[in-house]
Amino acid sequence: MSDNPLFDVEQLPPFSKIQAGHVEPAIDRLLTDARTALSAQLAGLSEPSWKTLVEPIESRDDQLNKAWSPVSHLHAVCNNDDLRKAYSAGVAKLTEYGTELGQNKDLFNAYQALATAPEFGNLNCAQQRSVNDAIRNFKLAGVDLPEDKQEMYGEIKNRLSELSTAFSNNVMDATQGWYKHIAESTELAGLPQSQLDSAGQQAKGKSLEGYIVTLDIPSYFAVMQYADNRVLREEIYRAYVSRASASSFCLDDSKGPWDNGPLIEEILSLRHQLAQLLGFNNYAERSIATKMASATEEVVDFLTELANKTRPVAEQDLAELKAFASANGLQDELQAWDLAYYGEKLKQEQYSVSQEELRQYFPAAKVQQGLFTIVNKLYGIDVVAEEGFDTWHEDVELYRVEKDGDVIARFYFDIYARENKRGGAWMDECRVRRINNGKLQLPVAYLVCNFTPPIGDKPSLLTHDEVTTLFHEFGHGLHHMLTKVDVAAVSGINGVPWDAVELPSQFMENWCWQGEALAMISSHHETGEPLPGDLLRKLLAAKNFQAGMQMLRQIEFSLFDFLLHQNYNADHPEDPQKVLDRIRKNIAVVTPPVFNKFQNGFSHIFSGGYAAGYYSYKWAEVLSADAFSKFEEEGIFNQRTGRRFLENILEKGGSQDIAELYKKFRGRQSNIDALLRHNGITA
Ligand code: ZN
Repeated sequence: MSDNPLFDVEQLPPFSKIQAGHVEPAIDRLLTDARTALSAQLAGLSEPSWKTLVEPIESRDDQLNKAWSPVSHLHAVCNNDDLRKAYSAGVAKLTEYGTELGQNKDLFNAYQALATAPEFGNLNCAQQRSVNDAIRNFKLAGVDLPEDKQEMYGEIKNRLSELSTAFSNNVMDATQGWYKHIAESTELAGLPQSQLDSAGQQAKGKSLEGYIVTLDIPSYFAVMQYADNRVLREEIYRAYVSRASASSFCLDDSKGPWDNGPLIEEILSLRHQLAQLLGFNNYAERSIATKMASATEEVVDFLTELANKTRPVAEQDLAELKAFASANGLQDELQAWDLAYYGEKLKQEQYSVSQEELRQYFPAAKVQQGLFTIVNKLYGIDVVAEEGFDTWHEDVELYRVEKDGDVIARFYFDIYARENKRGGAWMDECRVRRINNGKLQLPVAYLVCNFTPPIGDKPSLLTHDEVTTLFHEFGHGLHHMLTKVDVAAVSGINGVPWDAVELPSQFMENWCWQGEALAMISSHHETGEPLPGDLLRKLLAAKNFQAGMQMLRQIEFSLFDFLLHQNYNADHPEDPQKVLDRIRKNIAVVTPPVFNKFQNGFSHIFSGGYAAGYYSYKWAEVLSADAFSKFEEEGIFNQRTGRRFLENILEKGGSQDIAELYKKFRGRQSNIDALLRHNGITA
C-alpha cells in the first residue's frame, strides 16, 4: 500500500503515476483509518478543545481531500472507463462517510461542548467561525432532533432525493421523447449552415432522410432564433414549453407525459415539513440560514426593487422589438415564439459584432500575460511559471504566486479542449491553505477551461466570451489562493455563503469590459495592434442588448422560486401556476401563453441545489457590480482600492460575516445602482 501514489500527499500530486486501480484501496484505507481514529478520539475526549477535537478532524479531512482531489480532477480532465468506475465507487464511499459524520451525535455534542467551554473565547475568529458553522450544519442535518423527529427527517430527506431524481429524469425523458422530422431544407430556411448540418446529422442518426429538430437546447434555440417558418417555430415552442407537464408532447403514446406537476406538489410539501421540523417557518427561511441574506424580507425587497427599476427599460426593449418585427414583415401580434427570432435579427442589424473578428485580437498567451499584469497591479502579486513538475497532460502549466518575494500559492492552468476532458470551465481546489503539523500548507488551485488549442504555428485565439470566462475562473482562483486564513473549513472559498461565492469571480470579469485593461490583454495575433476603439464600442453596445428584458426574466424566476417556498401554506397549498401568474402580472412585460409550463422543467430549484436560492445569481451580480463601482470611482487600477478588496474579501474567505466584510471594503452596504448602470438600465 505504501507505494500507492494517492498517499503521497506531502508534495504536489504525482498525477502521472495515478491509476484507476489506486483509487479504491486508498479511499478504503483512509476511511477505515478515519473511522477508527474518530471513535478513539471521541472515546478519550473529556474536555474538547481546539487541539483535541478540531485539529485531528481537520487533519484527517485534509488527508482525504488531498488523496481525492487528484482523482476527481483526473476524472474530469482525463476520463476513461476504469477511472469512471473507480471514481463512482469513491464518491459513494465518501458520501456515506460524510453523512455518517453529519449525523454523529457524539461529535455534535463535542462541538457544542467546545463552543461553551471557557477556551472558546481565546480562539481566533476563523476558529470560532468554523466551530459555529459546524454546529449550524449539524443542526440543519437534524442531529439534535428527538429520535422520532430525526427518523422523520431522514425519511423526508430520502423521499426528496428520490423526487429530485425523478424530476430531472422526467425532464430528460420528455425532452428526448419528442422530435420533428423535416423532409425538405426549405422548411428550415433561415438556419445557418452549421445548424442545418447538425439537423441532418440527427436525421442520419435515426436512419432517416432529411432533418430532425429536437428539444435539446442547441436544436431548439437554432429554430427559435433562425427559422423563418413561423408555424414551425410555434410548433417547436409548444412542445418545448409543455415538457414534463400533463400536456407534454410525446411521440410514443405508451410513454409520457412524464408530468412533473404532482412531483412539484410533493416536493414543496416535504420541504415545508422539513423546514418546520428544524424550527423554521418555511423553506425560504431554511434556505437563507446558510446564506448572506439575513431575512426573507430582505430577499423579496431586493428582487422587488430590482424589478421596479428594470421594468421601464424592459418595456422599451419590448417596444423596440415590436416595432422592429412589424417593420420586418410581422403582420399580427408578436408571440412568444417570435421573441428570439426577431431579437436575433435586431441584434444582427444594430449591434452586430463578430466574435470571429474579435478573437483575432485575443491570442491566449497575450490574454494570460495581461491577466497576470492586471492582478499584479491590483494586488501586488507576481505570477511565475514553474518547470519540471509532474502533470496529466503536456499542455498543462504550473505557476506559483509570489507576494513580496514569498511563495503564497500555486495553480495549474489547463485551458485547452481535448478528448476525454469535461466541457466548460471551472476552478477547483487541489490543496487548501491550513496549518499542517505546525507548518503552513499553501493553497493550490486547478484552473480549467476548454478553449480552442493552437494548431501548428497558429496560436489559440479566444473569443471575448472566453476571455471573460478565463477572468471569471481566475477570480475564483484568487479567492482560493490569496486567503490568509489557516483554518481549512473557512479558508479560501470554503465556508463562503452561496449567494456571495460568485462575488470575486464576477468581479474579475469587469476588467474585460474596460478599454484600459483591454489594452493589456489584446493584440492582433498578426499585426500586434491593440483592439480598435470601434470594435470596443460595438462590443459594449452588444453587451446590453435587451438587458432589461433578460434581467426581468431572471427576477421573475427568482421571485417565483422564493415566494413559492416562503408563502407555502400546508393547509391550502396554492397552485404554483397561480403564484407564477401573480408575479408575472406584477412585474413581467411578456406574459407567456397559458400552455407554457416552464416551472415543470425548472430543474435548478426542483432537482438542483437552488431551492429558494435562485436569487443568488442576481445577489452576487449586485455585489460584484457594486464592488467594481468603487474601482470606477477611485481608478480601476487604484492600488489602495485593490488592497482593500484583497484584505477585506479575498484574504478573509469564509472566516467572518461576509456582509460585515463587504461593508468594511465598500464603506457601506451594497446597492443595486451599479448593476443597473452596468446593464444600461440606468444612465
Ligand atoms: Zn463562478
